[in-house]
Amino acid sequence: MKKIKLEDYIPLVGESLVMEIKLLAQQLKGARIQHINSTKTGGGVAELLNQLIPLMNEVGLETNWTVIEGTEEFFDLTKSFHVALHGTKTRITQKMFQFYKKTQIANREKIDKNADFVILHDPQPLGLSEFRQKGKNKWIWCCHIDISEASIRLWRFLSPLVDLVDGAIFHIPQFTKADLDIPQYVMPPFIDPFSEKNKDLTKVEISKYLKKYGFSINEQFILQVSRFDKLKDPLGALQAFKIVQKSFDIPFVYIGNFAPDDPPGERVYKEFIQEANKVPGVTVIANPDPNDLVVNAFQRSASVVLQKSIREGFGLVVTEAMWKKKAVIGGNTGGIRYQIIDEKTGFLVNTVEGAAFWSRQLLSNPKLATLLGEQAYNRVKSNFLLPHYLRHLLCVLLSTKHPGRGVTYLNK
Ligand code: UDP
Repeated sequence: MKKIKLEDYIPLVGESLVMEIKLLAQQLKGARIQHINSTKTGGGVAELLNQLIPLMNEVGLETNWTVIEGTEEFFDLTKSFHVALHGTKTRITQKMFQFYKKTQIANREKIDKNADFVILHDPQPLGLSEFRQKGKNKWIWCCHIDISEASIRLWRFLSPLVDLVDGAIFHIPQFTKADLDIPQYVMPPFIDPFSEKNKDLTKVEISKYLKKYGFSINEQFILQVSRFDKLKDPLGALQAFKIVQKSFDIPFVYIGNFAPDDPPGERVYKEFIQEANKVPGVTVIANPDPNDLVVNAFQRSASVVLQKSIREGFGLVVTEAMWKKKAVIGGNTGGIRYQIIDEKTGFLVNTVEGAAFWSRQLLSNPKLATLLGEQAYNRVKSNFLLPHYLRHLLCVLLSTKHPGRGVTYLNK
């Protein structure tokens, strides 16, 4: 595949944005940057880093990516943290805090001592902030989840670790925290229009990947693509489909995968499969192959795209479908609310019945689906593409040289 260059984005985002990125990168030229997270595969953060890092290198920043290691016990507890940060009641114990700290100690050698900037993603590697050498370089914490209703007990444990870095990035204004002493930045994440997951596909290519799983290009279907995670509400999506099925003879496809830092995924998958097997017309594709092209083809071909999440950081999968001109029906939560302008670029729903209602509207009114799909595409094109994010990130890195407090909005 041809290597994508920054200039290739000009037709989509305009020349001035690309020029701006170059100017900002010039100020940071030669800087060494380390991203640290907890998985190379599965989930939105791995998706972001895979696309972002090559472009950061291209603009002259020496950027690398490190993954922390942990036992299953560690990833079980960070999953509990994840759920509790999303505001769901979960048991968090003192022992978990101790084990979390122990795993951070075991990973401290992974910190690149020569990095000018260390960027931590999500709570899993956050505790590494205790091992930074003060004054040597700048550290940033990127929070990709909705912590607006975080468990107070857990936040009391994590926020001192956040206060040890130089700035925290959140996806939407509602996720910022009034009690932090460091600068906070609000900027949405992005998709890469040239990635395998989002690039244009020919009809022949789409047919090929649909056929692999028993579908054809002229066939209508309802789709949800998500990790097997309760917060994505796979059972809710299935319930909505059951209602739609009463009026439309159409299949439902659920494409899902697993992430190494999400151990309960297997259990959620088994529970979901049990229920899905009881409903005619349901196809569950676990770990599609090749993942990105299959997801791309199904998103392009779907008549209705659901994302029935109960909680969501941003929901890149929504962005991806909007980019493919789909009026997504999304759970009224977190970052989905920020992407979908209700009844303009998709539909926000609070219930299974709501998801079923709008699915039926879209199926019976293709003109509405086309109009909203077009508007969805434009929303992504103007706000949520890789160069938008890179510009914001460079601004954040530069601003750490002039520390202040408060919240800076970088969402346009
Ligand atoms: N995804 C995928 N294959 C699957 C299921 C999901 O590639 O079988 C991708 C999806 O396309 C998206 C990412 O996983 O790029 C999920 O990111 P999102 O922000 O929607 O949710 P997260 O999993 O990070 O909570």
